[in-house]
Amino acid sequence: MSIVVQKYGGSSVADVAKLKQVADRVMRTRRDGHDVVVVVSAMGDTTDDLLSLARQVSANPDRRELDMLLTVGERISMALLSIAIRELGGDAVSFTGSQSGIITNDRHADARIIEVRPIRVQDELSRGKIVVIAGYQGMSYRRDVTTLGRGGSDTTAVAMAAALGAEYCEICSDVDGVYTADPRVVPAARRIGTLSYEETQELAESGAKVLNAQAVEFAKEKGIAIYARATRGPLPGADPSADGTVVRKHPPRMPGTVVGVASEKDVLIVHAAPRQSAGASPTPDDLLGVLDHHHVAGKQLHVAGDRLTLVVSRENLHEEPRVRAALATKFGDSVRIADTLAAISVVGAGINASFDKVRRGSAALERAGIAVNGIATSSFRITWMIERARVDEAVRLLHAEFIEERPDPVP
Ligand code: ADP
Ligand code: ASP
Ligand code: MG
Repeated sequence: MSIVVQKYGGSSVADVAKLKQVADRVMRTRRDGHDVVVVVSAMGDTTDDLLSLARQVSANPDRRELDMLLTVGERISMALLSIAIRELGGDAVSFTGSQSGIITNDRHADARIIEVRPIRVQDELSRGKIVVIAGYQGMSYRRDVTTLGRGGSDTTAVAMAAALGAEYCEICSDVDGVYTADPRVVPAARRIGTLSYEETQELAESGAKVLNAQAVEFAKEKGIAIYARATRGPLPGADPSADGTVVRKHPPRMPGTVVGVASEKDVLIVHAAPRQSAGASPTPDDLLGVLDHHHVAGKQLHVAGDRLTLVVSRENLHEEPRVRAALATKFGDSVRIADTLAAISVVGAGINASFDKVRRGSAALERAGIAVNGIATSSFRITWMIERARVDEAVRLLHAEFIEERPDPVP
């Protein structure tokens, strides 16, 4: 029997009624003749609520203890879903990440999967069971519980699909696929039928929440096809691209085609420059050493002479006051942190073959009076740093400029 891995996000299991609908969908998949492994997220806003509890206790909650706390959310969902499937006559068994054999490094709150040993999952599948796994978590080689970073249940699903040699991995959510922009922000956004791994990874890293970037990286490495679709939608039919979005190896589109616009609001910009007052200036190595020491991940690192800029996503930064204090103590006024900006990106392979799109995007922002604080490019992406308050407006603007204007908006 072929194995199918299905992941259901927080909004799909937000309450008992929704959980029962998921149980029904799982049972239908089973009746279609598949072995089914289900990965679940925490119910609704549970993870945010648990985080807020921890922050009420400490401004700098210890990362190991945070993982102990946050993994509870997914354990609630896995047990309830397993009970709901049993209620429908299915034979389900639930496992935590550690019981499922997900081994990670020891970078708490943002761990990476190193290996998956799904022996217990395989055993139960061979006994005819439906296996329900708590997403977003694993166990470090020190035998501590870890979490995989926000949105990490997607990663659990893809890693499990790869380890089990699954036929496909379905990521089921409240939205029926990957769109050209967040449909909550851009009413004109359209569903994209097929995306390459690279395009999806860039969209995810630029802030498109629908798929987790690490999950896509995993899928690419192992050649797993991801089907992003709505939980309330149909099961995949004979033509899986008829609905939802398929992410797989995909021939390049016309070079320079913009496939989507994404944004990330909750970012800090770290600037380092020579000291104004007396004392030695920080070298990039000094500064990055402090960030590494506090497990702070950054992107768009730019070093020019004795100046450095870096974008830090707040998503997995849980001890911001402590990091700020460490930087201030060590580097004084030579390190500044800006907290009013956001990143907006347009994504597409070969997008920077000429500077045409950089110029067009900048001109569109300027026409709307949106100040650009910085620009970064790669072969797949152009990112503008702009004022946070105007980011949704800017997303609609760049979507209109690069996607709605085209005769064939979703290639
Ligand atoms: P889940 O809880 O199922 O993991 P998420 O909240 O993580 O779901 O992701 C789904 C949400 O991602 C959607 O509700 C949508 O608002 C948002 N989103 C952001 N960018 C995109 C995009 N390009 N395409 C589709 N959805 C997007
Ligand atoms: N519950 C976790 C989060 O909110 C993981 C996930 O939903 O994928 O980030
Ligand atoms: Mg998610």
